[in-house]
Amino acid sequence: MAKSANLGFPRLGLKRKWKKASESYWAGKISQDELIATANELTSRHWQMQMDAEIDYIPCNDFAFYDIMLDMSVLLGAVPTRYNIGAEEEIDIDTHFAMARGRQDETTDVTAMEMTKWFDTNYHYIVPEFETGMKFRLASTHPFSAVERAKKVGVKNPRPVIIGPVTYLLLGKIVDEGCSRMDLIDNLLDVYVDILRRFYDQGVEWVQMDEPALVLDLDDEAKSLYRHAYARFAPREKRPKMLITTYFGSVAHNADLATQLGEGLHIDLVRAPEQLDTIVNTIDNQLILSLGVVDGRNIWRTDLDKSFSLLERAARGMGGATRIQIAPSCSLLHCPIDLDAETTLDPEIKEWFAFGKQKLSEISALNKALNGEMDKAEPMFRDSREAFRKRSSSPRVTNPDVQKRLKEITDAMTRRETVFAERKKVQDNKLHLPLLPSTTIGSFPQTREVRKLRANVKKGAISREEYEKAMEAEIEKTVRFQEEIDLDVLVHGEFERNDMVEYFGEQLDGYVFSKNGWVQSYGSRGVKPPIIFGDIVRKSPMTVRWSKYAKDLTDHPMKGMLTGPVTMLQWSFVRDDQPRNVTCDQLALVIRDEVVDLEAAGIDVIQIDEPAIREGLPLRRGDWDSYLEWAVRSFRISASGVQDETQIHTHMCYSEFNDIFQAIADMDADVISIEASRSRMELLDAFEDFLYPNDIGPGVYDIHSPRVPSVEEMIELLQAALKHVPKDRLWVNPDCGLKTRQWIEVEPALKNMVIAAKEVRKGL
Ligand code: GLN
Ligand code: ZN
Repeated sequence: MAKSANLGFPRLGLKRKWKKASESYWAGKISQDELIATANELTSRHWQMQMDAEIDYIPCNDFAFYDIMLDMSVLLGAVPTRYNIGAEEEIDIDTHFAMARGRQDETTDVTAMEMTKWFDTNYHYIVPEFETGMKFRLASTHPFSAVERAKKVGVKNPRPVIIGPVTYLLLGKIVDEGCSRMDLIDNLLDVYVDILRRFYDQGVEWVQMDEPALVLDLDDEAKSLYRHAYARFAPREKRPKMLITTYFGSVAHNADLATQLGEGLHIDLVRAPEQLDTIVNTIDNQLILSLGVVDGRNIWRTDLDKSFSLLERAARGMGGATRIQIAPSCSLLHCPIDLDAETTLDPEIKEWFAFGKQKLSEISALNKALNGEMDKAEPMFRDSREAFRKRSSSPRVTNPDVQKRLKEITDAMTRRETVFAERKKVQDNKLHLPLLPSTTIGSFPQTREVRKLRANVKKGAISREEYEKAMEAEIEKTVRFQEEIDLDVLVHGEFERNDMVEYFGEQLDGYVFSKNGWVQSYGSRGVKPPIIFGDIVRKSPMTVRWSKYAKDLTDHPMKGMLTGPVTMLQWSFVRDDQPRNVTCDQLALVIRDEVVDLEAAGIDVIQIDEPAIREGLPLRRGDWDSYLEWAVRSFRISASGVQDETQIHTHMCYSEFNDIFQAIADMDADVISIEASRSRMELLDAFEDFLYPNDIGPGVYDIHSPRVPSVEEMIELLQAALKHVPKDRLWVNPDCGLKTRQWIEVEPALKNMVIAAKEVRKGL
């Protein structure tokens, strides 16, 4: 018989109970016992949901206080020396959180460990740090008590999840020159052997070993790490069976390796259905295959017929279904918990979705069908078919005008009329900016009052007129402040925006919003990505009203602020019924219209933010070019509808940009502002071999810190930048928007920034 399985459940809780609990704990408002009680309550509830859905293999140890990779570091005793943990001690919760968030009090001041994106998701993990001489040891009992608790709640066969040793090593960073991953592995494996042994003693049948690194391009060192590590687990005694779990891509290119490591292999057939045949042909007649046929990363209802035919195909190739497990493509961590909680979603559209709980039922139905109980599964299959039929023929999804316009995109629409050097001349004539012009990235502090105004108008507690008056007052105050400190290019402050994607999505057809569709981004932080379900239509101008108001207040150039198509795409749940680049082009067209309207309203400078452009990069290098090509093209469609004298800016932040600088240059924005101050202009190293051709403002003020940078340090950064950027192409700006800062920090910091710009300008 085939079995149903899950690979992981979201942690925050339907109403983000975990967010509230952990933040209260950090604030000293609840005790450690209360915190743990909440964790236990959530995991129990989630286990119950999975039992109710009749899932055979239910994960445990998938709950993390902050992050699952951090949990691994804690479990393995991989605690950097700065946290001062004795070699024997069990790692306590406060150290655990200090590793995640840093700790600053009367006696201690330690920084947090680094955080970075988990593969190509918007989830962030805490990066393991490896130091020379680091000793791994079993330093936590959490996974073992998770097994016991799951059993107590009634889970028959809890399947603990741990990160496999090679992915753990490859995703960590070596902080000193002195050691290599090969040096670390044997000691690391001692601890893994111990962990597996303990699970075995608890009667655990399967352990889920997440090895998503297998979908990447692996070099020889990585491959030998895999062989070496899993050879250590080879004898089948005293350990549970291992399900090697991969996701977010194909393992076909590493099939020989991946199929040799454990007793089972999980593959993601949503992202990479084409790998099925290769894998089925590579495995021996023992290996269990777990097939991810329900999308764990998106909110769409599964096309059960399509998934079922993949399963049947696998069963044919494997001589029966007995060695098949049916699972989501990856952990459900990346999707919201329960569609039933969405009481305000448009009922027609709601039918097209499945959140975590619904996905588990889909898995269960597929399992029944594959086990010859189609009669029991039939109603779900019928509903799925019906929902798909309705979705694909709904006039709300397809809009003939949009389709027509897409077909009519010409090459000319993807280019400005003249080259940058020419545009620059006319823009200079129009804008009369000094050398090293100063500006900001768009948002100013989002104070409690500003947020309250937005909430109140939404609730109907204040009238639209009252709201607009109050917003205008905020804008005016911000404009006057910028004039007073003598910034060159001003902004209106973005007070009307709750979020840079949601603000636009809410004004576009083709988007819907959930009430509780939270997805963990990092630690206690959740995001609620908007959902793109249909063709994108702009009903009316989205920003012109505010930009125009701000512009009319001043003689300075006023910069209009927009979110770019790639970022809109990247930070939403995207429809799966057409290629992503097509959806991106639709977004590009509506942004283009907005750009043109801003220009017509007299806005001479327009910024189209693309902070998420790098996040979309495929996991394997061979796939980068085609992504970058369409992403850059979409941006250009959005930016190229204007006259030469209209200056287009873009902005990027908090990513590694050095390896995609050519693509960034190809976007052909007149000006780019880019985060650089934290790395002290390391970014500019890329310019040693590649000279960025247009204007650029590497950030000189780290806005993620409450610190006020001094004039001197910003002068120093500007001088460093001048070594790589000609003086007539350098701009002066912070790293990113100021919305998370307070006015008392922003005021002196921006004052200093303008003084620094003037100082350096004098010497030129
Ligand atoms: N214009 C946006 C702001 O200033 C940019 C935000 C971002 O880069 N994430 O807030
Ligand atoms: Zn930014």
